Amino acid sequence: MGRRRRQPSSPSPAAEHPLEDDDLLREILLRLPPQPPYLLRASLVAKRWRHIAIDPKFLHRFRTDHGKPPLLGDFSLQINGKLSFRSTLDLPYRIPPDHFSLQVNGREPWRLVDCRHGRVLLINSEMRQVIVWDPLTGDRSLLSAPPAFDDMHTAAVLCAAGEQGHAHGACHSSPFKVVVVDSCEHGDETVVFVSVYSSETGVWSDLLSTPLASMGIAVGNRSTLVGNTFHWLLLMSNNILEFDLDRQTLAVINRPPGVRSDDSAWIIQADDGGVGFSALSCAHCQYVYCYHQPCFQMWDRKANYYGVAVWVLRKSIGLQKLLGLGFKIERNWSHIVRYAEHVHALFLWVHSSLFIVQLESMQPKELFKSDPMYTYYPFTSFYDEGISGLKQK
Ligand SMILES: [Zn+2]
Ligand SMILES: [Zn+2]
Repeated sequence: MGRRRRQPSSPSPAAEHPLEDDDLLREILLRLPPQPPYLLRASLVAKRWRHIAIDPKFLHRFRTDHGKPPLLGDFSLQINGKLSFRSTLDLPYRIPPDHFSLQVNGREPWRLVDCRHGRVLLINSEMRQVIVWDPLTGDRSLLSAPPAFDDMHTAAVLCAAGEQGHAHGACHSSPFKVVVVDSCEHGDETVVFVSVYSSETGVWSDLLSTPLASMGIAVGNRSTLVGNTFHWLLLMSNNILEFDLDRQTLAVINRPPGVRSDDSAWIIQADDGGVGFSALSCAHCQYVYCYHQPCFQMWDRKANYYGVAVWVLRKSIGLQKLLGLGFKIERNWSHIVRYAEHVHALFLWVHSSLFIVQLESMQPKELFKSDPMYTYYPFTSFYDEGISGLKQK
């Protein structure tokens, strides 16, 4: 139990106030939203509030109680090799862009391919190198690609913390893993393979591989982690690549029926914690070029009566209606940019604007204007730098 200020022997009217009770105040502060300004503002109210807010035990519980870190902004890689940050917090709490910045150089260009659990991942296939960067601490790990890989189609990063009560979002001192994906062609089929790097052992795992049905299939930078299984959309294909980290199995599953390979799509988490799928499709026809407005659809993957996994359509809504726009949306002027697992939200580019759609509430919000090629990598993390500054005062 925490320290109580109330003196039972000499009660005063002011001491009867609930906020005079440290335990109660702690419980109230734990219920603040996880976005950076709230706890910082509360810590400025009084010395006693600050004393609670800077307590490492309180901060640990604040994170584990919330479970999911907030969205701070996004990273994108500029053509000059500068990794730039854009905060999407409300004014005046936006984090300045130069707070998190990284310059990557090399004779060949780097590619930004993933951002998860507070870490940013870049690869350079020509130089056969991988960078894992923690923007909050500035820690950077430079890895050599696995020896068996001629190329790297894409890669993904995740926190490997195994301790009980760990909340992803403050993973800085925790070990991490990197999964790289590549493919090669054998006869008339493509073989896709993966290898996993562990920062605990410092080595790459043996290769795991699986054949794909046809040639010319590539793995895009569209990874979604559901539980401990990665999913990638396969390009030029109607399939999804699944890599189960616990079972160490690699498999291929179908997309939902009716979703065309050229539809803008993303794998998401289903409401029950399983695998889901989202796409901007046409609900009226199957023509590649059509004049209908795009329809936003979501599916869940569930076991049917016979125990076979099938896709079940959960939602279908016109994109114009979903976003509440007063103009007709052109199909070529709308696509899914990315999905953020921790905030369970999709980012959609529609007619020069980037929208976020919270999938639980289906609430949309316009974030900013952008060009269609903008590579939005959402960055979610607990961030208590203002409070850390108070600690030193
Ligand atoms: Zn973690
Ligand atoms: Zn149509």
